[in-house]
Parts: sequence; C-alpha cells; structure tokens
Amino acid sequence: MLNHSLRLGRIHGIEIDVNWSWLIIFILLTWSLAVFFFPQLFPSMSTTTDWVVGAISSLLLFVSVLLHELSHSLVAESEGIPVHSITLFVFGGVSDIEQEPHSPKDEFLMAAAGPAMSLVIGVICYGIFLALPSTAPSAIAAVLLALGFYNITLAIFNLIPGFPLDGGRVFRAIVWGITGSFQKATRIATAVGQFFAYLFIFGGLFLAITGAFLSGLWLVFIGRFLNNAAVGSRRQAELETYLKNVRVASVMNPHPPEVPAQASLEDFVENYVLARNLRALPVVADQTNCLVGLVTLGEARTVPRESWPVTPVSSVMLKVDQLTVAYPDEPLVQALQDLTRDDLNQLPVVQNGQLVGMLSRSDIIRYLRVRRELSN
Ligand SMILES: [Zn+2]
Repeated sequence: MLNHSLRLGRIHGIEIDVNWSWLIIFILLTWSLAVFFFPQLFPSMSTTTDWVVGAISSLLLFVSVLLHELSHSLVAESEGIPVHSITLFVFGGVSDIEQEPHSPKDEFLMAAAGPAMSLVIGVICYGIFLALPSTAPSAIAAVLLALGFYNITLAIFNLIPGFPLDGGRVFRAIVWGITGSFQKATRIATAVGQFFAYLFIFGGLFLAITGAFLSGLWLVFIGRFLNNAAVGSRRQAELETYLKNVRVASVMNPHPPEVPAQASLEDFVENYVLARNLRALPVVADQTNCLVGLVTLGEARTVPRESWPVTPVSSVMLKVDQLTVAYPDEPLVQALQDLTRDDLNQLPVVQNGQLVGMLSRSDIIRYLRVRRELSN
C-alpha cells in the first residue's frame, strides 16, 4: 500500500506524487475539523459549511506540505544536488534528494528552508485571521485559522532536533561545521534523534496509561517512525564510509555470462535460464562484444512458445538505451544509488560501449561483509 502513489505532475523537473495513505489523513483531518473544531470555534456555521470548509482547509494544508517540501528541493537544486521526486504521504512529505549535501552551509540552508516556509505561511495566515473585521464570513476565518495553526505546528514539529527531522539536519549541519567530519556529525545527530524518538515512545506510553489513550498511541507511533529513520540514516552513513573511494570495477563480476544477439529465445531459455539458473542476461552484438540490451524470462514470455526457436533475443530484449548502466570508474556508492532508485538487482558495466562486467546487489553485499569482517 505504501508504494502506491498517484503522479500529480512535475515542477522544475521534480516529480510530484501523492501516496494513497494521504487519503486517510485527508479524511481524518476533514472529519476532525468539521466535527470537533469548527462547531466549537465557529458556532454560527452550518454543519454542511463545516464539512465543505473542512475539506477545503485539508486540501490547502496539503498544498502547504507541498510548499514545505518544494522549499527543501529547490534549495537543494540551487546547490547542485539533483532532486528526483516529492511524495506526499501519511506523515506529510518526503523529498527524494539523491545525494548528501556538499557542505555544512548547504545542509543548513536546505534543512531550514522547509520549516521557514511553513512558519512564513502560518504567520501570514494567522496574522490575516487576527486582522479580519468581525463582519468577515466565518468560513474564511475558519480556513485561515486552520492554515495558520497547522503550518506553525508543522514548523515547530520539524524543528525538533531529532535526526532525520529538519531540526536534526540543522543540528547535524552545525556539528559538521564544528567538527569538520560528516560521519561524526551523522553519528551524533542520529544518536540525538534516537533520544527524541524514545522520548516520544515513553511519553506516549505514559499518556496512554494515564488516560489519553489515542494521543499516547499516536506519539508512540511517531516515536517508532523516528527511531527507524534515525537507525536507517546511521546505517546509510556507515555504508558510505565503507564504500568511500571504492570503484565499480573492484566489486563487479568481470566475466559475466552473456548471450549473443542472434541467439534464439529457445536457446536462451534452454541453455541459460534452465541449464544455468540465470534470470537476466546482458545481450551482446556478435563479434564486437558491444552491449546491445538485456533479456529476462519476462521478455521471452511475451512470445508464444512455438515461436521461440525462430525469434532472436534481440527482437524482444530491453534495448541498451532503456537500461541503467554503470561504468568501471564510477564510485560504487553512485551505482548503488542507481540500483536502489530504479529497484534493480544488477547493472551491466560498460566501457566505450563494450560490456566489461555485471554489478549485482549480491556482489555489493558480499563485498561489504568482507570489509566489515576485516574491520572487526
Ligand atoms: Zn521538511
């Protein structure tokens, strides 16, 4: 469910996706505004108006989260860090920023941009709400108050110095600036992040036991999410330490099995898939060893079995220009990012158009295991 997203469009080359889980939040928000908050704060509004204004407010809150994430992303892009996509989901938004920032100052600006945007929107909306004349329609006052309250809350929550929240990133940028070490700053920031995560968990348990069961449970939920994220970030930083300065060439399989472009599907299935238990194979041009594509059992299945003996793999394979490839001199961390981003198991490694190896996830895992054993 968490992987199912709806593409809204692109802004500045950044994909904007909405995860289906966000619908739950939309319904919950609209419901809590229409049933609890508006009837108390604006008793003159009818029930229908409460629901309509609740739904409009929820939609605008969604736009607020998008603006928060866009601020992070646009600052990142201005610093030369590519941003792949923004996904809005149950907790707000996540920007898929592909690299770590280049300097403490870059990270500071990138992390602070989101909460700064939320704070500005919140203060403006709340300011207009306070300045409204008493004759102004309640519906407008209600939307402004909801937006003001939500955006200021979003800014404050994100400024908690627990990594990987924005405040934790600001904190890491400061520690990084002082110590000069990104790795050390990440270790300290994720440890502080875990401290806050446990504060949420134990605070939530305390609330749940003393009566505020739902609020307590909600805090425990947020705490667990933060703890997982902090642990994940520390592992990622460790991984990057291990893989630093390692090139694709030293981890790839330099003699991968390959299939010639003229081979038939029958040959491919019989002699490679069944006989050698291989699932995906690079396809090379006869004689030259140039990579021309990749073929898997999935492609063979698109052709009726009786045509396999007369169909060459080149007519069904994924063509080379559709493939993500790696280069022998490329940093391994970058190839690993490509594998993860495109959800692939392996990458053909090419040099001047020629296939020189295959890099698979299992190669990288094996390499990491050896490095870890050597360092212990
Ligand atoms: Zn943020």
